[in-house]
Amino acid sequence: MMPDRGSEQVLLVDDNPTNLQVLFKTLEGSGYRLLAARDGEAALYTAKRARPALILLDVMMPGMDGFEVCERLKADPETADIAVIFLSALTDSQSKVHGLAIGGVDYIAKPFQTDEVLARVRTHIKIQRLERALARRNTELEDENQQILNAVDEGIVGLDVTGRITSMNAQAAAITGWAAADSIGELFSQLNLFPNDAPLSQSFSLLCEGGVGLRKDHVSISTRSGHVAPVALSGSPRKEGGAVLVLRDISEWLKDQFALEQAREEMDTQRQHLAHIERLSTGGEMAAGIAHEVNQPLTAVTNYARVAQRLLADLPEDRRQKMDEVLSKIAVQAERAAAVIQRMRSYVKKPSGGREVLQINEVLVDVLALAEVDSRVNAIPIELDVAESLPKIFADEVQLQQVALNLIRNAMESTANTGQSHAVEVSTYLDAGMVYFRVKDFGAGLAPEIEEQLFSPFVTSKEGGMGIGLSVSKSIMQAHGGDIRYQPNPDGGAIFSCEFPVHQ
Ligand code: ADP
Repeated sequence: MMPDRGSEQVLLVDDNPTNLQVLFKTLEGSGYRLLAARDGEAALYTAKRARPALILLDVMMPGMDGFEVCERLKADPETADIAVIFLSALTDSQSKVHGLAIGGVDYIAKPFQTDEVLARVRTHIKIQRLERALARRNTELEDENQQILNAVDEGIVGLDVTGRITSMNAQAAAITGWAAADSIGELFSQLNLFPNDAPLSQSFSLLCEGGVGLRKDHVSISTRSGHVAPVALSGSPRKEGGAVLVLRDISEWLKDQFALEQAREEMDTQRQHLAHIERLSTGGEMAAGIAHEVNQPLTAVTNYARVAQRLLADLPEDRRQKMDEVLSKIAVQAERAAAVIQRMRSYVKKPSGGREVLQINEVLVDVLALAEVDSRVNAIPIELDVAESLPKIFADEVQLQQVALNLIRNAMESTANTGQSHAVEVSTYLDAGMVYFRVKDFGAGLAPEIEEQLFSPFVTSKEGGMGIGLSVSKSIMQAHGGDIRYQPNPDGGAIFSCEFPVHQ
């Protein structure tokens, strides 16, 4: 079977017509299309026009000799890949070496054997065909590669061992402002993309020369126009030496981060605001209690004052001791009234002071003092049962008071609704590495429709209730890395437990 070489052309060049004829005869019928030229000029002309796969080129010709023809062919990109086999009576090795050095693929001595010429022509045409196919495939692969590189969002820059740019995709050009055509072949450091960052420049040298990878989540790149842009950067060494740099424009991402941060801050402000409103509302409710409670000591103060007045009118010596006693009672009652008002004031007005290391038991003692008025008015005692030597927690004291007071007041209210006066039990303990405080009551317990969305805002069963106490408490607890949970009291009533992580 005839190999597929019908379309390949072979150009025969010899100034001697007889030689040309012999060559013609030799290759005739071999399947190649044959062209002929009788001098150098004609050979160059035909080679350029017909682009043969191979030229059998006589060396010694009048005018332009075969070596010169070959040199000219190789110098012209259009004809450089044509395989040239020299034919010459010059058989000294110097001529052969010269012929091969200037780009010839083979050298056949004259007089030649026809079989040998045919065999060599076939071999070189085959090699030539494979080389052309390989070159085509290479170009295709390079195109494909470039298309892929240009399609990705990241800028990709190839560097050789000395830090010179070997390739650059479209996105890299867009990020840096440097066109690939201006950058390829230049030293990466010459683009001066990271001025004033000596350690980074050092990292690039280490990457290209030492194969040490690098990664920066956020660096400022100075583009060709002097514009500064944020980028993420990574450099990976290549097995064959040099490295690949990947640049990602993170300005959009940073904008999103910034917006997110602002939204978070806004949420935090709103939460503080809500907590404050809730405190004011609790405070408002308690104000009525205070008015009642403050009234009693003040009445006492007035009465004692009257007594003192009377005693003063007829001041016999022996009554001085009694007088002292009455006056000190006045002082005690007045101080008590002042203390109640003072506590209320500080609770309602005090802004959150931020977190500090706290002993939860101490905070609860203060909360109980605040709840004392309600406790007495409703005749529902509060029992405090604290665990000894609890680890400290890291919390905002005012917010913690708020959560505890809210739970205790809800508990007392629920107990009062049942018409009995079982004590509300407040306790602290350590469980599974978390610090807890728990408020347990023996009241009516939770209505099923309330239980379902207990910690959602505006859920209330109380007339005039705001229904935000528990939702605020939940967000306060979660902001502390803890949580608040409800469970029914098996003996009737409700149990709310708040957990805090231990301060390390
Ligand atoms: P508010 O007290 O203003 O209603 P909260 O968020 O503090 O708001 O409570 C929401 C609802 O949960 C209350 O209206 C009540 O129905 C129920 N609740 C809370 N604590 C208890 C409790 N200890 N016993 C029974 N019901 C409770």
